[in-house]
Amino acid sequence: MTPTIPFTDTANVTPSDAFRVTPVLSEQSQKLNLTAIVNTHHHWDHAGGNKKILQSLSSPVPVIGGRDCEAVTKTPAHGSTFTIGKNIQVTALHTPCHTQDSICYYMEDKSTGERAVFTGDTLFIGGCGKFFEGNGAEMHVALNEILAALPDDTKVYPGHEYTKSNVKFLKKVDPANEAVQKLERFADENHETQGKFTIGQEKQHNAFMRVHTDDIKKVTGKTDPSEVMAQLRELKNAS
Ligand SMILES: [Zn+2]
Repeated sequence: MTPTIPFTDTANVTPSDAFRVTPVLSEQSQKLNLTAIVNTHHHWDHAGGNKKILQSLSSPVPVIGGRDCEAVTKTPAHGSTFTIGKNIQVTALHTPCHTQDSICYYMEDKSTGERAVFTGDTLFIGGCGKFFEGNGAEMHVALNEILAALPDDTKVYPGHEYTKSNVKFLKKVDPANEAVQKLERFADENHETQGKFTIGQEKQHNAFMRVHTDDIKKVTGKTDPSEVMAQLRELKNAS
């Protein structure tokens, strides 16, 4: 999945499929002006197309991403902002755990007031990424301190569509939660869930953002939120 932001000035987020991105850029070159490549983390299926895209351009653009991303030219500091086009303000949110160089990008469209966050493999609809380079304490901070602090109406755009599998797990660990049942109905009826749910809704149906609740504490047998997070991930890995 390679969401391209449909504005005159365009930044391609997670350009793994260079073969899909470059034809669009050349076909649409009258309308689109690629100003940056933005990576959420270094994994090949997110950043592996950077060099190919750069090679296809007549003039280079910055590659914004974590320190380990292919051909990266700029790693924004946590909380720092940059703009795309006239209206989109982007805030970089460092969320190390899935990889140590994971960055989520919170975007606000100043002309419409719309808000979105591109979460890579840190937060999925109804789930979170594997802890390849981090631990429960780090994912707890990422999800429940950093992303949870965004406005509730922020739309969530993860790097993968894993909602159906996540729902199966949520039904096991949080079966009485009505928000999980609602998410299941939506996922049954819709192929795509990216951008269809908000941070506020994730706090309702995503067990990894509900580590403070009695139900999730009980199912993990832990009380400390970092330990609840770590145990919940173990349960998901084994499911
Ligand atoms: Zn990844």
